[in-house]
This record gives sequence, C-alpha cells and structure tokens, in this order.
Amino acid sequence: MNFNLSAKGLRIAPSITLEITAKAKAMKDSGIDVISFGAGEPDFNTPENIQQEGIRAIKEGLTRYTPASGIVEFKKAVCEKFKIDNGLEYKPSNIIISNGAKHSIHNALMAILNPGDEVIFAVPYWVSYPELVRLADGVPVYIETKEENDFKFNVDDLNKVLTDKTKAIILNSPSNPTGSIYTEEELRAIAEWAVKNNIFVISDEIYEKLIYDDNKHVCIASFNEDIKRLTILINGMSKSHAMTGWRIGYAAAHEEIIKVMSNIQSHATSNPCSISQYASVVGLTGDQNSVEEMKKHFVERRNYMADTINSIKGLSCRKPQGAFYIMVNFTQLLGKTIKGHAINSSMDFANLLLDEGKVAVVPGIAFGDDKYVRLSYATSMENIKNGLERIKQIVEE
Ligand SMILES: *Cc1c(COP(=O)(O)O)cnc(C)c1O
Repeated sequence: MNFNLSAKGLRIAPSITLEITAKAKAMKDSGIDVISFGAGEPDFNTPENIQQEGIRAIKEGLTRYTPASGIVEFKKAVCEKFKIDNGLEYKPSNIIISNGAKHSIHNALMAILNPGDEVIFAVPYWVSYPELVRLADGVPVYIETKEENDFKFNVDDLNKVLTDKTKAIILNSPSNPTGSIYTEEELRAIAEWAVKNNIFVISDEIYEKLIYDDNKHVCIASFNEDIKRLTILINGMSKSHAMTGWRIGYAAAHEEIIKVMSNIQSHATSNPCSISQYASVVGLTGDQNSVEEMKKHFVERRNYMADTINSIKGLSCRKPQGAFYIMVNFTQLLGKTIKGHAINSSMDFANLLLDEGKVAVVPGIAFGDDKYVRLSYATSMENIKNGLERIKQIVEE
C-alpha cells in the first residue's frame, strides 16, 4: 500500500457483480456470442416525447445551474404524481431532485444517520444499501428472509433486531432482486411498528410502475400523518421511463429532512442535470402510454422466463410480482460437478453458466444470498429464449 488513504473509503466494497460482468464483456469483445441476463436497466429507449423535451431544453439554453435541490416546475410535477398515484399531499418544499434515486438514498442516509446508527433491511438486498449505509457512518443490520415468505420480513423479524441504535429501515417494494411486493396489510403493520418505535422508513419505490397481475402498489406514507412524518419516499425516472442515463431521482419527506438533504447535495454535486430535469417534467406529466407498453413486454417475458425456469430440472423460482428480475434457486445442484465445475456457491454456478453456456447471470452473493442467481428479463424475448435453452442444456446434462 503506497498511500495513507481514508479508512472509510477503503472499507467500501467494490461491486461483486463487476467480476462476472467484466468477464462477460471480455468474452463479448473477443467475439464470443454471450447472452446477458445481467441488465439492471430497461432495454427500451427513452420515450420520444421525453427525448424531444431534452433537445428543446438544450436548444433554448436551459443549460445553466438550477436551484441545487431542483427546478420548481419539476418539484410541482413530482407533488402532482404523489397526489394522483399515492394520495399524498406534499409541497415543493417537501421535495428534492437528485442525480438518480441512488443519490436521493445517499442524501437521506447522510441527513439522518449519526456514527453507529443502525439501518435494517432485508436479505437479499439491493447491492448498494450496505455500502450507502456505511458511507454515512451507519451500521447495516440484516434480516434474512425466506423464499417461501416471498423474501419479505414482518414485525416479529423487526423486533428481533431492534436496538436502541436502530435509526431507520429500508423498504424496497417492488424489490430488486426478488420482485416481491409488500401488501397493504403487511405495510400497515410495519408502519405501526415504525411509529411506535420512532424509526425512519426509507421507502425505495423505484419499481412502483412495474407491478403485474392484480397486485397493486401501496405507499407506506399514505396511511396516516404519523408514518408520513417518518417516511422518506424515494422514486425516480430510471426504471419507469427508461431514463437510467439521464440521472434523475427524487425524494419526498418532512421539510426539515429535505432541507438537510438539500444542503448536503448543494455542496456535493449542486443541481442535477438541468436538461434531464426539464425532460423529466414531460416524463411525469405527459402521455404515459410508453410506460404501459414497456410493462406489457415485461409481463410477457416474466411469464415465459418463470415457466421455463420451473420446467428445467434442478432449478426453480417464484413468479415475481414486480420489477424485472427473477431469483433462480439452484440449491438442488449444490455439491454436484457439472462439466468439471464444482457447484458450491452462486459464483461457481454463475461461472459455469458463463464459461460453458456463454450466459451471464448475477451471483446471488452480490445481494447477500448465495443460494440464488439473478436473471434480468430487461432483454429481448429472443435472448430470453436462447439464453434459457443454453442454461437448460448445461443444467440437465
Ligand atoms: C435502479 C435502482 C435504484 C436507483 O436508480 P437510479 O438510476 O439511481 O435512479 C434504486 N433502487 C433500486 C432498488 C434500484 O434497482
């Protein structure tokens, strides 16, 4: 080690998914036909009306600094969204626009945590939660969930890990990586628990628009004023409007919290991209047909993928209710050797699929659970059909 670097910085883990995606990319670059189920973003282009508004913003010179916490036009559009979709009344002073929902979560944790404060969330978790908590000097506290419980926790689970250091929980419904959603009844119980114990709820609802069948999205902040006061709602344009590269997310919370988040953001990044903010106004207030259109494709792909996985001997999965991922259970293959690869972990299984089948998946260990691999169906039906056929041939051999 040549430098005396930040102990905190050095504790932040590199992305475990990087290793396998780097390998997949190297194979692709060398001309090998790799099918990737690794995508963490929609495979669709940003809808045309949003593109056009971005171009207009550039042409009209809307290319300067904006207020650090975002333009008021977009904050008003966000307030309107919360009113229509979630029955919530917020004012622009309750809203911050950030450089992606991830950045909103970062700001939220920075605003509420003191060193040693504990933040509870479910395993399997979204890859960034543990590191975002650590960056803010907090301590991640994990609740191991079970597949038969749809990878969800309840109040009993929360009580088991509650301490006088517990500051917040992170909810992610629909979930990445499991696709699970919490029902109204489950959320009401969690809300009651949070209010009783005075615990913040960071509710990451980035997949709100991607919910299938008869399931419906319920926003935990909508039950009453007490839980609304403790909730920091996180949402954004990336997943619903296929805008991952534009970097626009937002948060809604009590004014006092938003003020601290805004101050932090103002020194770290200033405003989110002006062009993206103007385009996002149209994204939220314009025609939503493209959102519905994308959803139709996701449903069709999910159905095909889940059914096919469950028809492959040695693999199984639940049909997820939202988002665009499937957690594939491969525990029946543990301890076996396939094509010379001993399968003792999710990394072993992912490497087998990549080396022998030219199929890239994300090992579950990236989400804290070594019994699964995650497949994304944010890719074409053709890729899904071919990729699953390759997996079947390897696994059933
Ligand atoms: C993609 C994702 C986000 C953040 O997306 P941004 O592009 O930063 O808006 C947040 N939470 C989860 C669970 C995600 O999958």
